[in-house]
Amino acid sequence: MIDLLIIHAGELLTCRTDSNGAAGAELQQLEIILDGAVAIEGNRIIEAGATSALQQYFGDARKILDAHGRLVSPGLVDCHSHLVHAGSRHEEYERLITGRSNSVGRLDSGIRYTVNKTREAGDAFLRDQALADLDVMLAHGTTTLEAKSGYGLDYDTELRLLQIQHSLQHEIDVVSTYLGAHVLPDEYRDRRNDYIDLVIHTLPEAKPYAEYCDVCCDPIGFTPDECARICDAAKALGFRLKFHADQTGYSGGSELAAKYQAKSADHLDYISAEGIRSMALSGTIGVLLPSVTFHMMEMVPKIEKGRLVPAPKAFLPLAVQRMIEGGMWLAISADYNPGTSPSQSMQMAMQTAARLYRLGSPEIWHMSTINAAWALDRASDRGSIEVGKRADLVIWKVNHHGMVINRFGVNLVDTVIKNGKAVIENQKVIQV
Ligand SMILES: [Zn+2]
Repeated sequence: MIDLLIIHAGELLTCRTDSNGAAGAELQQLEIILDGAVAIEGNRIIEAGATSALQQYFGDARKILDAHGRLVSPGLVDCHSHLVHAGSRHEEYERLITGRSNSVGRLDSGIRYTVNKTREAGDAFLRDQALADLDVMLAHGTTTLEAKSGYGLDYDTELRLLQIQHSLQHEIDVVSTYLGAHVLPDEYRDRRNDYIDLVIHTLPEAKPYAEYCDVCCDPIGFTPDECARICDAAKALGFRLKFHADQTGYSGGSELAAKYQAKSADHLDYISAEGIRSMALSGTIGVLLPSVTFHMMEMVPKIEKGRLVPAPKAFLPLAVQRMIEGGMWLAISADYNPGTSPSQSMQMAMQTAARLYRLGSPEIWHMSTINAAWALDRASDRGSIEVGKRADLVIWKVNHHGMVINRFGVNLVDTVIKNGKAVIENQKVIQV
């Protein structure tokens, strides 16, 4: 007798792919089982197929959950966030979008505001806020999340953030990343090399609390040479690598990420043709962060001195198309952070990706499930509904996968199953 049998999924969206993830033409091949069912034992999927077949074998399950014809998908995997932080940047944002001040709203100065607030905040405050954010993410369908440090930018606070994000007790699995090289802190303005030394010096202490080391190779972050120094040291300690690359301008970050065989390079707004080629060859996954582009209104003309100035990133749909045609593996993340993407919702990121990049729902579903799991080295364990994988699933309020992309601005999740147990049901948290 199994623990749980889910029956009558109008569409059982497996997001299964031949290898670790989908790229190129495979992005269009979304596997859907009509009137599907999933059999779950403990925290694992033991069978997925047609309801009529699974009911024969597992009809005596301890619990049977009828999806009543609605969509059932893998739990969403969000592979890039800045979860642990303090301070809201709504005032800076309003000045930025209204154009009432040119002196604020620069990304790097905004990050420094968050750094100051985060340094001042106590552990309990930071932990409680992170847990509240995780609750919102779970209610919106996220079952695995990557979280980066990077708002401490000093030895003590970076380690404090890593310890907090590593020790969070929540239904969402949190994958921890050390991002000491986020931006240069003010106190090191004239001593760049000293700060790189500090990041490298922190690596051994960070290791027990972080799987990945991330570097920001970008005009507002660090140069390729500086990033290479950190990557060499991190690799020697056994860290796997991630990059913030080419977000605010071309920096060569994508090529460097490929050279180091980083697991992912994220943002990529200004990726070069060589960056696309080298990332496709190295298998480094490109992580697209459409909520940032939306929130920062980078595809909308600006008003400056009463005149319209063309949108700085109107080229992005073409850039994403070239990444897909170039054979790159791509994932989508919400990039939850207080400055450029204060949204915990992967649904919002998926819906925004469709609109900004002109992507179809098959690409977006792959990029938010199996490909995102691969960007966290977890594609063999989750990201699709397959025998042997973790039983992380979402039952939606709608009956077609395209409706999750077509609708926007509301939460379409009904039930979230994490490790084989319903943790959100009818959009209510289950008390256990
Ligand atoms: Zn980021």
